[in-house]
Amino acid sequence: MLLTGGEPLLRPDFLEVYAHAKKAGMLVTLFTNGTLVSAEVADYLAEWPARKVEITLHGVTRETFESVTRVAGSYDRCMRGIELLLERGIPLNLKTTVTTLNKHELWATKEYAERLGVEYRFDGLLIPRLNGSRAPYSVRLAPEELVGLDLQDQERSQALEKVFPQLWGPQLEDVLYVCGAGKRSFHIDPTGRLSLCIMNRAHMFDLRERGFGAAWHEFIPAVHSLKSEGAVKCRTCPIVSLCGQCPSWSYLEHGDLETPVEYLCSLANRRAEAFGPGYQEEESEDETPHLQEAVCEADAHESQAQRGAPCASGVSKSDRV
Ligand code: SF4
Repeated sequence: MLLTGGEPLLRPDFLEVYAHAKKAGMLVTLFTNGTLVSAEVADYLAEWPARKVEITLHGVTRETFESVTRVAGSYDRCMRGIELLLERGIPLNLKTTVTTLNKHELWATKEYAERLGVEYRFDGLLIPRLNGSRAPYSVRLAPEELVGLDLQDQERSQALEKVFPQLWGPQLEDVLYVCGAGKRSFHIDPTGRLSLCIMNRAHMFDLRERGFGAAWHEFIPAVHSLKSEGAVKCRTCPIVSLCGQCPSWSYLEHGDLETPVEYLCSLANRRAEAFGPGYQEEESEDETPHLQEAVCEADAHESQAQRGAPCASGVSKSDRV
């Protein structure tokens, strides 16, 4: 079970919720900003060990960190939280959402994590707010800049070079949701509504009304059976499996489930150009003939494994390159 937010430690009953999950035998991971990790919380996490705690570290200087949080004192509180967890030997990962505000400190942040001996990763995808607001986009990096960071990070570069040929080819399923959401994971919000992932606002199920059994046996299969209806370019795209395009993000950005998110499209194409030798983005043109070609190709490749597109939801970031 992953407890995330917002900030889960803001809940006055957090320790009660956490203990309930632990006593039920669950492996619990906690995503937190670290600023509310007091000695009491750290002691509790040591007594009832979390599988892992992940803290988002916005930078290694107070100035950069607080330019992101816009909360005075948050840097010191986060650093103290990290210390308290490490002192107790609690498994800790650090991560950074890289933006225009902290890009200049990314490698120093990574080095800091390495010095502490904890796992570290970074990500530059900023999703819209769940009400559809695009305000977070004001600090996101251009796709070219994110690819530039991929290229500077040897591990990421090698991973992308390796997966590119393996994932090449169009999507052959006609279902709408081809990722692992609802299969490997699902999300429950604080009001008891279940959805395929944290970002999905299009299909929600109120657990308080009909219970988990109905969600698992009826709601999720019904959402998974939805077909892709639009003749969108993604259905014929050879780099669809490298792309974070997903119905949940389209819904937040466009109000429908299939209109491609332009930023993700550009990022996937820039990555393919960087890591797929000889790849060139196709000029945009009438999609209908391409769709026809894809259907023929699908007939010829029926056995191709289900694609595993990287997820933008933030829930299973380990899926991402
Ligand atoms: S958004 Fe662009 S890169 Fe991604 S699958 Fe669709 S066409 Fe391909």
